[in-house]
Amino acid sequence: VRRIAVIGGGVIGLTCALRLARAGHQVSVHAADRPERTVSSVAGALWFPYYALPLDAVLGWARTTLRALTELAADPATGVLLREGIVLYRNENPDLWWTAAVTGHRPARTAELPPGTVSGIVCSLPMVTMGRYLDWLGARCAELGVSFHDETVTRLAAVEPAADTLVLATGLRSGELTGDKTVRPVRGQVVRLANPGLTRWIVDDDNPAGMTYVFPRQDDVVCGGTADENEFDTTVDPATEQAILARSLELEPALVGVPVVSRAVGLRPVRPTVRLDRTEQDGRAVICCYGHGGSGVTLSWGCADEVARLAG
Ligand SMILES: Cc1cc2nc3c(=O)[nH]c(=O)nc-3n(C[C@H](O)[C@H](O)[C@H](O)COP(=O)(O)OP(=O)(O)OC[C@H]3O[C@@H](n4cnc5c(N)ncnc54)[C@H](O)[C@@H]3O)c2cc1C
Repeated sequence: VRRIAVIGGGVIGLTCALRLARAGHQVSVHAADRPERTVSSVAGALWFPYYALPLDAVLGWARTTLRALTELAADPATGVLLREGIVLYRNENPDLWWTAAVTGHRPARTAELPPGTVSGIVCSLPMVTMGRYLDWLGARCAELGVSFHDETVTRLAAVEPAADTLVLATGLRSGELTGDKTVRPVRGQVVRLANPGLTRWIVDDDNPAGMTYVFPRQDDVVCGGTADENEFDTTVDPATEQAILARSLELEPALVGVPVVSRAVGLRPVRPTVRLDRTEQDGRAVICCYGHGGSGVTLSWGCADEVARLAG
């Protein structure tokens, strides 16, 4: 049994904490922000590998996570649902690498394709209502004795002196603790509508007017989005919201006239590759797990398994 301090309480930190506590370790979580203030709370969130590398590791982590989230979908209290939807393509030779992790997908029928799209893949994937899911992860951690500390860490040496292992799940701000200069923001804006009874999600990443997705969740429908490179501004831009709404309503006419219930901006923690490794510092093991880009939810359980393995 190790004493492990996890720094970060987004989807990565909480999943690692739960995985480590289930392995029998004594775990504490140290996070600067409440879960509802994290990037994780802004995520759509569909299981779908996006904006994260390297591809083969991502595929493996994503496959493990797909299995875990599919199991969680059996209990609605988790906030995870298994829903059928469509990934649309607008070119003749789409790269379907992600389908290697998914069983039971099929090509879309012509009648399922909106104007301008040339093909699509239909499949059932986990759709996560992040507020509920982060609460659920936190509650399961607490049941296993994980302690929570509201704390901004400025020096690793100062964290929980009793811990022999640290896990860094600090997303975009990881460089402040590691000196890593390669983590950068890719800004995403979403607008959420009341759910008029939709269940089918749509991904239209190649939309020439801008990436578009419609994610019907338990309580609302998340419409997005943007992928603004190196943009740190977290204020909602009204013109961007109007453009997202126009694209989303064109894809999903059932949303016409449906009221907006909330809006949000999040900064995806993008890195040339996800960092997941173990080093030593001041006589303690330091396991880094950050830089999940647009796939933190999608990779969470696979990465947590690897963190548990590295913790020993
Ligand atoms: C609009 C949008 C849509 C998205 N959609 C999806 C999707 O559909 N599917 C998907 O898989 N992913 C999606 N993502 C990506 C996903 O949100 C991220 O990859 C994921 O949230 C990263 O999780 P994280 O725990 O690493 O970071 P965060 O959620 O940012 O958490 C970081 C944690 O570290 C803490 N922290 C940081 N620095 C310190 C410090 N010095 N001391 C103490 N605590 C610290 C913070 O307080 C926080 O608790 C989306 C992102 C956006 C913006």
